[in-house]
Amino acid sequence: ATASLLAEFTGTGATADGHLVPLLANVGGGKDAEAAAKLGAQGVGLFRTEFCFLERDTEPSVEEQAAAYKSVFDAFPGKKVVLRTLDAGADKPLPFLTDSTEPNPALGVRGYRTDFTTPGVLDRQLEAIALAEKQSEADVWVMAPMISTAEEAARFASMCADAGIKTPGVMVEVPSAALTAESILREVGFASLGTNDLTQYAMAADRQLGPLANLNTPWQPAVLRLVALTVEGSRAEGSNKPVGVCGEAAADPALAVVLTGLGVSTLSMTARSLAAVAAVLKTVTLAEAQELAKLALSARSATEARAWVREKLPVLEELG
Ligand code: PEP
Ligand code: MG
Repeated sequence: ATASLLAEFTGTGATADGHLVPLLANVGGGKDAEAAAKLGAQGVGLFRTEFCFLERDTEPSVEEQAAAYKSVFDAFPGKKVVLRTLDAGADKPLPFLTDSTEPNPALGVRGYRTDFTTPGVLDRQLEAIALAEKQSEADVWVMAPMISTAEEAARFASMCADAGIKTPGVMVEVPSAALTAESILREVGFASLGTNDLTQYAMAADRQLGPLANLNTPWQPAVLRLVALTVEGSRAEGSNKPVGVCGEAAADPALAVVLTGLGVSTLSMTARSLAAVAAVLKTVTLAEAQELAKLALSARSATEARAWVREKLPVLEELG
């Protein structure tokens, strides 16, 4: 049964009643992107550009960057590719951008914040993205990691505009961004929830520490509330700007149903999870997903939320 459920995957995410939830892939470069396209990804929801340059001691040239970005865009002609600007620092140090002596790297100069200390790198990256976009057919969206305020979102949007990038967005992975999603989404075209960092910061639990794994799960009702708040913020004033999820949460089929019920518009994950998520999503209607989201929000703990939701999704047993 498992094999046939997964074999039926056609690359179009939808609930049983036809509510579309595009299923996208998280990739780190051209090879990943080609593999994801073969597995039916409808586009890329998170291109982690820092993965192209992890070994580098010096900043890659604009041309070198453009070639790396184009290799991903070319795997998805006519499709959406959400590129994230360099997310250096903490679990992803880049020698040319981050200071390895910071006392608290997760709370340090990381992600978008490296533009405070090393201005110019982000401008040149945006220039490289615009160059690669011109040479490809992908629908390129660009988002900044670790945005904490509407002011930062506005500044990033203006940097994108200066570089000729039409669709700027932000990652929502810091609780302050979820809490102020309404004003942040006035400044940019879309948001993507990074549930890995959002969980670590909401729970004050380092995502790299095994003993904190019970705290560090996106099934925590507190994290689900931050997701709900972000979606609410996006709907204020009827603007309805897209809010996706690109953290590991999207790859858990039961949680993918909950996220859909919370109103998230796209799910982006490691490509090998696409089939299982699609298979489970199509067993529930949008109204059922909304009920399951309410149930999870009302739980007392992550364990309870997960158990309650999984109990209502019998298809999970067939998937193993
Ligand atoms: C996240 O934080 O959820 C995310 C998608 O980004 P990363 O795991 O690369 O920090
Ligand atoms: Mg992150």
